[in-house]
Amino acid sequence: MLLLDRPVTSTPTEPDVARFLDPDERLLYPEGLQVEVSEKRAARFDAHRHLYRSAREHRRDLQYIAGRVSRNKYVGKCGAISRKRPGSDQRLPVQMMMGVDSDGNALGGFAGLGRCGYAGLCPVCGPKVRQVRAGEINDLVGPWMRAGGDAAVLTFTMQVRPGEHVADHRDAIRDGFAAWKRKLERRGLYDDLGWVGQILSWEFTVRLDLSGNAHIMALWLFTSPMAWGFLQDLPRTWVETMARRDRKASLDHGLHIEQVRIGELEALSSYMAKGAEGHWEMGEEMCRTDRKQARSGDAYAPFELLDLMRQSGDISYDSGPAKAWRAYEKAQAKTCTARWSKGLREVLRRVKETGVIEGVTPTLFEDPEEVPEDAEAAPDVEVANTADVEGKPVVEFDSIAWWCIWSNRKDMLLLRVCEEVADDARRRGVEPDYIGAVQMAMRRWGAAPHEIDGVSAI
Ligand SMILES: [Zn+2]
Repeated sequence: MLLLDRPVTSTPTEPDVARFLDPDERLLYPEGLQVEVSEKRAARFDAHRHLYRSAREHRRDLQYIAGRVSRNKYVGKCGAISRKRPGSDQRLPVQMMMGVDSDGNALGGFAGLGRCGYAGLCPVCGPKVRQVRAGEINDLVGPWMRAGGDAAVLTFTMQVRPGEHVADHRDAIRDGFAAWKRKLERRGLYDDLGWVGQILSWEFTVRLDLSGNAHIMALWLFTSPMAWGFLQDLPRTWVETMARRDRKASLDHGLHIEQVRIGELEALSSYMAKGAEGHWEMGEEMCRTDRKQARSGDAYAPFELLDLMRQSGDISYDSGPAKAWRAYEKAQAKTCTARWSKGLREVLRRVKETGVIEGVTPTLFEDPEEVPEDAEAAPDVEVANTADVEGKPVVEFDSIAWWCIWSNRKDMLLLRVCEEVADDARRRGVEPDYIGAVQMAMRRWGAAPHEIDGVSAI
């Protein structure tokens, strides 16, 4: 392209935008969902993998699929309309924000959207909520350990009975965990250990026969270097507890305890808060096939089930992965991701401020969980509703314009178009014309004039 011949202008010409909307892309995104599985298609998808370069587009596809197969009625509508102004019935406008990423390239996102906030069910909200929760753990546990406190991660598992529904497996783990804790309490062991509280998470993998594994991960905090010798005895008590409940756990496949080191905190925080992403790192996933071989057996991380549907093109309610997804939904409905013991946050905040561990009250030992474990998991709407990126608002959409974009699933593609326009304008030293780009893109997508009219500058 001969940029030098062109007059410096702030108005994108048709070919400018067309560059970012090539015909293949229109075939693949998002209509590619409906294409039947074939080797030819797989090869074509491989050849065009750069089109899926952005994890957010991938997540948006998966969110659409989750909306089709979920029993939860909010996930499929996540981001469909703007949210209400706090304390009012009026709705905020939907805004496109433009910031920059760490490489200095334009990075867009939306603000004002009403998100579902179901971190365990929504591939769009999940990573966003996870980031915030992981940040909080990292932010408070680090100072605690530097002040002389200690921490360990306990992972509880047991064998799955053949054909056992993943929700039944969850119940068995939960009941066993409660019994095991009571046993420790009766022996007064929490006090001996200097146990302060815990951050609790669940993790699931599901098979297509609706069976699956439920794990509890608990980050335990201690006021002083923990009695490692004593902790090493705990896996045996877990095996015994489960055996009395007619369940099978072993030292290899039972309770696993690991001491936390400060250098590993960041990775650990992310691990504790990962929720439905499970062992699957979505950002790296994309079209990779190597990971498929690495996966153990035939068990899937929950969001992986949605990706299975995306790849096969079969997103019907009765498909195998869709049924497995709903089995997961049932199992995770009453579980938590990164739930803190009551009062634990306050203690850790105080230690962060003062740098010393003192005044840890005994009440903490009595109330291990902020919310009963069988309470319905509440959506994390507040976190999910924050703007996607830091930046300045560049385009505003009324509800009609936004519905046109969202219902056609062009929102993520629109971000990419505007980012490309921004980068291009910066290279040429001109002001980017976002409105022109958005309107042009909408026209190409077949929007009606009254829909395009709903787009305005800030
Ligand atoms: Zn959502």
